[in-house]
Amino acid sequence: MIYLFCGILSGAVLSAICLPLFKKDDTLESAIIEETEWDLLQRKKEVVLGNIQDLDFEYKCGKLSAEDYQKIRAEMGAEAALVLQEIENIEAEADLDALIRRELTARKSKSALQTTICSTCGASNPSTNKFCAECGAKLKR
Ligand SMILES: [Zn+2]
Repeated sequence: MIYLFCGILSGAVLSAICLPLFKKDDTLESAIIEETEWDLLQRKKEVVLGNIQDLDFEYKCGKLSAEDYQKIRAEMGAEAALVLQEIENIEAEADLDALIRRELTARKSKSALQTTICSTCGASNPSTNKFCAECGAKLKR
């Protein structure tokens, strides 16, 4: 059962890695809202950190050798550090306009935060979760 679970997850990881490459600017949201560099970096940060999380999980599932894991983890870590540094640089400029935009983005994402109720155990999970945090069941979207 755990192997099946990992298989499903690695499929999800693959699509999570590949999808952002294909759908760059064709989302409705980016067509309406002008995005700043900061917004883009925030999204990149989410993707990079998500990938690291998935990688850790794959490693725990035994899908990766320690050697591969260390190598990929180091690359992802370097990428994450780079993104975080860029975000810090932008914030350090203390651009008032950017600060306002950041607050607006935070508000927007807060209101967009939806939950999915697990059909197996009834726990409420962030809708971005693929699996229930309580029981591990696959969440329907
Ligand atoms: Zn559950």
